Amino acid sequence: MTKVIKKIEGIKGVKGMNDLLPTNTILWHKVESILKRVGKAYGYQEIRTPILEKTDLFRQSIGDETDIVKKEMFTFTDAGDEDLTLRPEATASTVRACLQHGLLHNQQHRLWYLGPMFRRERPQKGRFRQFHQFGVEAFGWKGPDIDAEIILLGERIWKELQVDGVKLHLNSLGSDASRQTYISALKAYLAQHKDDLDADSIHRLEKNPLRVLDSKDADTREIVAGAPSIGDYLQVEERACFDQLRRTLDENGVDYVVDQNLVRGLDYYTSTVFEWITDQLGAQATVCGGGRYDSLVENRGGNCVPGIGFALGLERLIELVSIQNKLQHICHEGLYLIDLTTDESAGVSLAEELRNHGLKVISHCGGGKLKSSLKRADKSSAKLAVIIGDREKESGLLHIKQLREDVADIQVPQEELILQLSQFLN
Ligand code: ATP
Ligand code: MG
Repeated sequence: MTKVIKKIEGIKGVKGMNDLLPTNTILWHKVESILKRVGKAYGYQEIRTPILEKTDLFRQSIGDETDIVKKEMFTFTDAGDEDLTLRPEATASTVRACLQHGLLHNQQHRLWYLGPMFRRERPQKGRFRQFHQFGVEAFGWKGPDIDAEIILLGERIWKELQVDGVKLHLNSLGSDASRQTYISALKAYLAQHKDDLDADSIHRLEKNPLRVLDSKDADTREIVAGAPSIGDYLQVEERACFDQLRRTLDENGVDYVVDQNLVRGLDYYTSTVFEWITDQLGAQATVCGGGRYDSLVENRGGNCVPGIGFALGLERLIELVSIQNKLQHICHEGLYLIDLTTDESAGVSLAEELRNHGLKVISHCGGGKLKSSLKRADKSSAKLAVIIGDREKESGLLHIKQLREDVADIQVPQEELILQLSQFLN
């Protein structure tokens, strides 16, 4: 018997995959509800797709030469000999689902998703093997108006969450045609400096030269600084689109930098690409990234339906929210009810009555002294404590204590309790 228990205690969670404990889920719920509210405010609707997909979906959508497909996917063959993969991102799945259910036939859709993603990366601060993304996707609009909408939606998220210091980096990769011309020029330039590039970049020079632009190697970065700029290779109408997007962002007070080396790590991006970057999270600085993918639907066998979206990493966002500490107050809600009456009879029915009025009530169960009950109240998520004792029961006055603010306690008659609590809790 003892042996079995020991063995169970010895099993730990999977490396890079985190448990979210009750103290954390409160903030997660708050952040998630704000994300959903912002999505809804722009008319985006939720889509939920399975966590497992056929491996080929990601290989073909994300690209065989990307880090995700080459090194980061959790792939296995199931008992029925199917090659399956835990989704590393959700755009490929969303496009698959939309095509499978005929949603992209002369239609336009604004969608959002939220859920776990899986990448077998080296776990470190802000980088995990299971992490969560909130993302939006808009299908059927060429832009640049929808590009501006999506970026403004992202900006609104920072505002609503009161997060400071997240800066938008923006670029345009042009159409497939202009990008190909640029890639040839870039390849020719990099080939001249091949001997000074890092090993990864030498490999990418052949397979995926655009990725050399965001190499982290110091010597490669120096070479990249002198590389041709993608902006010089945009066609007239592509440049006009990008300029229009920039004008709209300017008009709406969005602060951004144009970053010609921003290429993003997935092959499906075209035209507008962007990332929100902060200097407050150390090396894992990108909180959110996205862009246009105008050929993805067609490449997946659909009509020529343009798309644009972004994905935001919740772990990084919530770390930022926690560091900046401005949302702590919204994590406290409802009341903690302490029943000190001798027969402990008043508390249960009072708690039920308060819940009938829509209030969140945590009952102090298990008895004990006032001091220890208040300690529990303090540790709970409640904003207020309500205390009822024999004296209170007799006098009809109840005691309200503010748990999160340094103000004097008050006494209220039982018939005014609901009104008073509603005022304090809103
Ligand atoms: P990075 O350059 O940090 O690896 P990425 O370009 O691979 O990011 P995307 O695929 O664009 O990331 O995903 C969008 C967002 O999802 C990232 O900006 C980040 O916030 C989050 N994210 C991506 N990978 C991880 C991970 N392994 N752990 C935690 N969050 C992640
Ligand atoms: Mg990555």
